[in-house]
Amino acid sequence: MKPVVAIIGRPNVGKSTLFNRIVRRREAIVDNLPGVTRDRLYGEAVWDERPFLVVDTGGFLSGDDDPFAPHIRRQVEQAVAESDAVVMVLDGRQGLSPFDRDLTLRLRSADQPVFYVVNKIDGPAQEELLHDFYALGLEPLYSLSAEHGYGVPDFLDDLVAALPAPQPAPEQIDPEAVRVAVVGRPNAGKSSLINRLLGQERMVVSEVAGTTRDAVDTLLQRQGRAYRFIDTAGIRRKAKVDLKLEKFSIIKALKSLEACDVALIVLDAEQGVTEQDIRVAGYAHDRGCGAVFVANKWDLVDARTLTPHQFTRELRESARFLPHAPVLTVSALTGQRVAKIFPLIDSVFAQYTTRIGTGVINRIVTEAVQRNEPSMHKGRRLKFYYTTQVSERPPTFVTFVNHPEAVHFSYHRFLLNQIRLQTGLDQTPLRLIFRQRT
Ligand code: GDP
Ligand code: GDP
Repeated sequence: MKPVVAIIGRPNVGKSTLFNRIVRRREAIVDNLPGVTRDRLYGEAVWDERPFLVVDTGGFLSGDDDPFAPHIRRQVEQAVAESDAVVMVLDGRQGLSPFDRDLTLRLRSADQPVFYVVNKIDGPAQEELLHDFYALGLEPLYSLSAEHGYGVPDFLDDLVAALPAPQPAPEQIDPEAVRVAVVGRPNAGKSSLINRLLGQERMVVSEVAGTTRDAVDTLLQRQGRAYRFIDTAGIRRKAKVDLKLEKFSIIKALKSLEACDVALIVLDAEQGVTEQDIRVAGYAHDRGCGAVFVANKWDLVDARTLTPHQFTRELRESARFLPHAPVLTVSALTGQRVAKIFPLIDSVFAQYTTRIGTGVINRIVTEAVQRNEPSMHKGRRLKFYYTTQVSERPPTFVTFVNHPEAVHFSYHRFLLNQIRLQTGLDQTPLRLIFRQRT
């Protein structure tokens, strides 16, 4: 599980430039599919062999938002509270602003390590611009240039050193349980749904310290199987107290997706499929976890104007990158079809943890290549040697090839589809990696 670093600061200081410099752009081949949101607010980064997630809170603001607006402040504060480290970016050319002073005061009481970064210091000659910032007593203070990279490595060295030690993978903490994340927009019905799910049959339900920081998970037993609903204690209580302060938290969604086997992506069917729903689905796709679309509030949908089939088609169109996620229309209010959720979690989980023997997978790939040979590469023939499954959660296969970089993405997709068809793994993400062998 990866720690989360939040980048904060007023507009135009260079947050997104710094973000782009830090994250390793992993342009997965499947991302060529339409419908994958490009404006990602977060990215994966690795420095000094330490993986972490970076969130650019600048993405919370639209261009003309007032950074002092209470809802913006709350979102930034929430991001600070939920992250494992904070990077506050300041503008070395513009100097200090009232917003900076206000924010730095608030950050003094943060529990997490805070790094102050004076950006746009494009070379050693400009270090004199830093006096103002030193005078404020901010510590630790880094001068750097996000655009040119100056000062960035030293800063990253210290940043990763301050991150919490790597946590064991969740399946090592609690090997028995199926870990479920419930994600979706505010008011989609997450808490209603969780309460309905937990109340539907006789179940032993308890709350335990969470797999992610400051979280409380809900554990339950159903038909002899254990489930761990990640970071759901707060969501459950919220419905009772009716505290609707909480905005959509990208960091919470990211963290629970990091820790889950299966994500329930809850949508408000009456509202239709929205951009935010697709964004959440995009996170699940990036993470490679199992996923189920739960279209809630179906009781409010007029069956004459929208059938489950039509809704599913619309959703598939917008979220083409998750073709394997089953779609279920439910009502947390009436309980309609809610009983189908656990069986779906089980079947997705079973596929997500599947192992395919080397003999079987090897034959599937070899036969697919024989049926449909890849085109030549620089006059040379691609040779596929053998294929084997290297891990599960999700099932991940490695094929040894003479020129891995020459395998076209459409051929990659063809092979993945063949594996899907032949293995029957239609409800889980799959990964296929090409590795060099000469
Ligand atoms: P954000 O609104 O905080 O995300 O800021 P951006 O990353 O969009 O950057 C705002 C502007 O500052 C852009 O025009 C960047 O090119 C510029 N900028 C960012 N980093 C640097 C830097 O290190 N040096 C200089 N000279 N300009 C920078
Ligand atoms: P959350 O913010 O995603 O946790 O959403 P809540 O569970 O708090 O639900 C938001 C609102 O939608 C509440 O007023 C619920 O009573 C209502 N709601 C939730 N599920 C359903 C449903 O299936 N049908 C209808 N009609 N209303 C629902």
